[in-house]
Amino acid sequence: MNEVLYTPWRLNYLIGKLPPIPGCLFCYLPANSDEDSLIIHRGRLCYAVLNRFPYTNGHFMITPFAHRASLLELSREEREELMSLAALGEDVLRREYSPHGINMGINIGKSAGAGVADHIHLHVVPRWDGDTNFLSVTAGTRTVPEDLPVTRAKLSQRFTTV
Ligand SMILES: [Zn+2]
Repeated sequence: MNEVLYTPWRLNYLIGKLPPIPGCLFCYLPANSDEDSLIIHRGRLCYAVLNRFPYTNGHFMITPFAHRASLLELSREEREELMSLAALGEDVLRREYSPHGINMGINIGKSAGAGVADHIHLHVVPRWDGDTNFLSVTAGTRTVPEDLPVTRAKLSQRFTTV
């Protein structure tokens, strides 16, 4: 398991501000403010939210508002919006961070690595050449230099302008 290096104030932010989540995380987040939940975009059927424990700056997830466990359970409209937001997210990340590449992926089920196994979510992770071969691999650690509320404000603004 990789460790994540945070500055102490960020650790306080992450631990101190996180209330115990009643029930499903992805059902809970949209019931709160975009700022508190780190939501960067609300569509009609799906929304995009920053990962609180990002793999890299700008790592976010796209998920349906409805509690659905798999792609098969999504309606056609939900699937279409999920993929449309993925494309929009690609554009947003390219404009804001100019990544060298982007990983997108869905882990279906706990065995596949899903942290929240019963509410499907697509991870969107910007990547840079070398981001896996310095801290991540050699020391089992990774750094997250940008404050999450700053990332949220930037990406949320981008989503409204693309
Ligand atoms: Zn849910």
